Amino acid sequence: MSVTHAPQTADVLARQDPELAEILLGELHRQSSTLQLIAAENFCSPAVLAALGSPLANKYAEGYPGARHHGGCEIVDVAERLAVDRAKSVFGAEHANVQSHSGSSAVLAAYAALLRPGDTVLALGLPYGGHLTHGSPANFSGRWFDFVPYGVDAETGLIDHDQVRALARTHRPKAIVCGSIAYPRHIDYAFFREVADEVGAYLIADAAHPIGLVAGGAAPSPVPYADVVCATTHKVLRGPRGGMILCGSELAERVDRAVFPFTQGGAQMHTIAAKAVAFGEAATPAFAAYAHQVVANARILAAALADEGLVVTTGGTDTHLVTADPAPLGADGRTARGRLAAAGMVLDCCALPHADTRGLRLGTAAVTTQGMAEKEMERIAALLAGVVRGEVESVRAREEVRDLVGGFPPYPA
Ligand SMILES: *Cc1c(COP(=O)(O)O)cnc(C)c1O
Repeated sequence: MSVTHAPQTADVLARQDPELAEILLGELHRQSSTLQLIAAENFCSPAVLAALGSPLANKYAEGYPGARHHGGCEIVDVAERLAVDRAKSVFGAEHANVQSHSGSSAVLAAYAALLRPGDTVLALGLPYGGHLTHGSPANFSGRWFDFVPYGVDAETGLIDHDQVRALARTHRPKAIVCGSIAYPRHIDYAFFREVADEVGAYLIADAAHPIGLVAGGAAPSPVPYADVVCATTHKVLRGPRGGMILCGSELAERVDRAVFPFTQGGAQMHTIAAKAVAFGEAATPAFAAYAHQVVANARILAAALADEGLVVTTGGTDTHLVTADPAPLGADGRTARGRLAAAGMVLDCCALPHADTRGLRLGTAAVTTQGMAEKEMERIAALLAGVVRGEVESVRAREEVRDLVGGFPPYPA
């Protein structure tokens, strides 16, 4: 008997709804025939996909294992306990909540656990790589809290620690948030802890991006320093789309209540099962090797892009993430992204510290999952620069991309 019925489900879908099946196949083809350089994306394993496509999707499970508002939860309770235990073990945390539907939901719950509307919060400003949930006026965070942004040093691109300390002393925030969507360097969690202690603030680490590197031992962990760690499970961590929260036992109940019933309803048990699978994978030596290769690849990519003339923010990277200004190649970020998209190279624009034009943000999580290494990073950088300069036509570039990714299928048949 098949555990998940996933293969059968694919057949059923093709027979019952060929229109939608065609769309799914089209997306699989797009993901396998173009180059995935979006820093927040990855290819989760067939085992994770199988859990996502399992009948756990049918189960209503409001509440927590052993204390549900619905009957019939005895099996899914085991799945959630397994996910929680694995998360605690991988990250060395006293408590884990694995129900957050996304990274943003995890941040919302963290704020709900620790703050009241109107409280002052210090966070990296959006122009420097802060997330929408770090005080954007278009987001609940900016509407309900009084955010004070800190920035990065104009010269080095590094977080301005002196400014963080000064703003904390002036504004006495209730919480300090550290974490970013685009910061390529390690965050000094000990520094942020020290400042938070000095002004009596909570420290919230939004480690959505680096948490997968933390799992693999390739980046420092925020867990010993932050009161609450928010994360996604689908970025470098390579699990299903979703969020999680890690904290000490003393905040466990507040965090759990902030997730359910305060900000969410029923838990998504198929996703939680898939998170358990991903945490199981993240605990293996193979994942540690992966995480270190992700960083090695990003370093090579950053150096090769700099050799091609792009201005790499902070001069390099400690993580999976590289941001760079393509202006010296004759295009701003938006134009460059358009040319690269036409060539089958998929990546994002990002804000550049102290520049009006946008830059490019790339990540190596997905291509490393595909098995690419140093040689491929150099090939990617050379091709990227040629395309941005307008030297390589998009038809020829597309051919080269197809040739490159052809050797590294994300889901080998
Ligand atoms: C990705 C990210 C989030 C949000 O995750 P979603 O799952 O898209 O809601 C929040 N904070 C940071 C720092 C992120 O990088």
